Amino acid sequence: MSTIQQAQEILKHKFGYDSFRLEQQNAIQHILNRKDCLVLMPTGGGKSICYQIPALIFDGLTVVVSPLISLMKDQVDALRANGIDAAYLNSSQSGGEQGQIMRDARAGKIKLIYVAPERLLQSGDGFLTFLKEVNVSLFAIDEAHCISSWGHDFRPEYMQLAKLKMLFPTIPIVALTATADKLVRKDILEKLELHQPATFISSFNRANITYYVEAKKNFYPKLMEFLMERREESGIIYCLSRAGTESLAQDLREDGFNAMAYHAGIEKTAREKAQEQFIRDEVKIIVATIAFGMGIDKPNVRFVVHADLPKNIEGYYQETGRAGRDGLQSEAMLYFSTADVIKMKKFIVIGDNPEQTKILTKKLDQMARFAQLTTCRRKYLLNYFDEPAPDVCGSCDVCLSKFDMIDGTVIAQKALSAVSRLNQNFGMNYTIDFLRGSKSEKMREEHKLLKTYGIGADISKEDWQTYFRDLISRGYLQQTEDEFPKLRLTVTSEDVLKGRTTVQLVKTKTVEEPTRATASQAEVSYEKELYADLKELRKTIADSANVPAYIILGDSTLIEIAAYLPLSLEDMRKISGFGDVKIQRYGREFLDLVKDYAQRKNLTTRISQKQPKRERKASRPVKTNEGGYKNTNQVTLDMHRQGIAIDEIAMQRQLSAQTIANHLAHFVETGDLRVEDFVSQRKIDQIRPLIEKHGYMSLKRIKDDADDEISYNDIRFVVSSVLSGNG
Ligand code: ADP
Ligand code: ZN
Repeated sequence: MSTIQQAQEILKHKFGYDSFRLEQQNAIQHILNRKDCLVLMPTGGGKSICYQIPALIFDGLTVVVSPLISLMKDQVDALRANGIDAAYLNSSQSGGEQGQIMRDARAGKIKLIYVAPERLLQSGDGFLTFLKEVNVSLFAIDEAHCISSWGHDFRPEYMQLAKLKMLFPTIPIVALTATADKLVRKDILEKLELHQPATFISSFNRANITYYVEAKKNFYPKLMEFLMERREESGIIYCLSRAGTESLAQDLREDGFNAMAYHAGIEKTAREKAQEQFIRDEVKIIVATIAFGMGIDKPNVRFVVHADLPKNIEGYYQETGRAGRDGLQSEAMLYFSTADVIKMKKFIVIGDNPEQTKILTKKLDQMARFAQLTTCRRKYLLNYFDEPAPDVCGSCDVCLSKFDMIDGTVIAQKALSAVSRLNQNFGMNYTIDFLRGSKSEKMREEHKLLKTYGIGADISKEDWQTYFRDLISRGYLQQTEDEFPKLRLTVTSEDVLKGRTTVQLVKTKTVEEPTRATASQAEVSYEKELYADLKELRKTIADSANVPAYIILGDSTLIEIAAYLPLSLEDMRKISGFGDVKIQRYGREFLDLVKDYAQRKNLTTRISQKQPKRERKASRPVKTNEGGYKNTNQVTLDMHRQGIAIDEIAMQRQLSAQTIANHLAHFVETGDLRVEDFVSQRKIDQIRPLIEKHGYMSLKRIKDDADDEISYNDIRFVVSSVLSGNG
């Protein structure tokens, strides 16, 4: 059996999964060849398996460096639940316990050992000698970005790991992280002195998270409504201040929600208790400052709410990323007000450091811009992290919205000429006051004499704000990065001013329910009642084993059971997440529950409907060495140019045909491909006027208005050609 077949077997039998995800297989193959590498995967992507499977194939011991004691324990519990021999060493254990673990490791009774970075190379307590004596096969450095002072989470104790390569030159090292920009990546490779390393980067897109932004006006009633629809689910609400978390948690409790506050000012034992109860699903909602989250791996967090504006996109992405680690559909909700931006600006001023203040201000403005987008929020996030993305994701509030568009050409002309008349030297509010002919003292006398003064008096201040944001989103205007940003014209402004182009603007927006097409639970419908019973059984088992419920089985596994109704242990093996040991330990109990339910409801098994799940594949680069990777769009383009049809490309790349079409539409937009290659002239002629009528923000409106024969793909391609300027 080849080693990769062996890896596949372990994936199925030990972990209960059918296929590898993202770059797992490539990384594992590389590690099995005893070579160094860096693995970048988003939270919940499945980094651990990349070193856990090699650990089981190699003869010796795998040493995993992990920064947080709570995470070590969780990982070890999860491995043991699958019948894998693992242990951790940390200061919470007695000398005797530690001695026993080291003896077990020497005797080859342990395959993986988790240690803190400071412990690893510490001289004096004999651990280094221990490592030299036992047969170490692999070092895995988790949260590897902590070694870089460029990162947002530098930990000095990680610096010691720089000596690892020198001390153990022949033992391969795998470094893993979910957050690393180019600079940090390079830093990790250098600091760890990895030898001819490969880097495996997966897409950072969190496809199972839907992003929403709502105005903060009427915050509390809106939040209540949001939470009421998610009564049974776990979530985190982030607030800026400690006092804010306490008062909100209190309000929520008085309104009958099971909520607790968490911040660094709360006494340690109380804080740990809150966290523990949250992990065990005994507390549903944690209202926290950003102090919360680092040390937890809870996979079934279904929503993350931001009650206040985060300081930057990095923080926002990391915090929202705590939702949906298990891959099930989850939501991120941000409540936004411009007053928050002003408030936050005061917070981030660093008195004696104007340079740093400038960087932080810029980051805050980028965050505020995200909140005010009228274009796809996912695209903005991915582009922020230098990753290409299609224009429409279909699962953010903007993409899900129906926009009422108006012909905003005249409005845009008024706005742009006001900016121009004010010499591009004023901010949005002043410009709006100017347009509305404000009599305020702040309005300069010389401005009152200009022709443009007051030409926008017929439009309310709020509407102007919406229009300006839209104009910025669409690139007709931009804002400077000053503390008080000024409006500037762009290269496209002139076309508007000279009447060479028309402008569609958003009048109102209504968010539709997501179709949940991306959610794994949407692939099948499942028995809700049975699901609740399964959860209860899981909780009982977990409590008696004294571990969180998710260590026993994940929510997605229970959903599959409730959907496919396995009625024999053989059927149960087909459920994702049920490895051999778990079948042996718990299979019978869960099976009895399902059988009983099926009998009562007169149902038969649906296991034959279960296809081995096609796991998410890398949608970003293929295998890379640091530096030059081919992005996924490019791979599709190359295949298209070889004359391969969309469906065939989709099959070969194990992506959906929709995704492939999106890639190709991207190249229609850049002008590299022609729309005529994909859509017949007759259809193009039908679609173009509809785009003019409805704008291109909601493909659905165009679809609704078009003949049935017109598909979303047809529309997408024609929209791309219009955007390319060749339309
Ligand atoms: P990360 O460390 O990247 O945040 P984990 O390693 O904790 O992610 O994995 C997240 C979840 O995904 C875990 O529940 C894990 O068991 C599951 N998982 C990992 N690989 C696969 C796979 N190939 N198929 C299905 N589930 C997987
Ligand atoms: Zn979107």
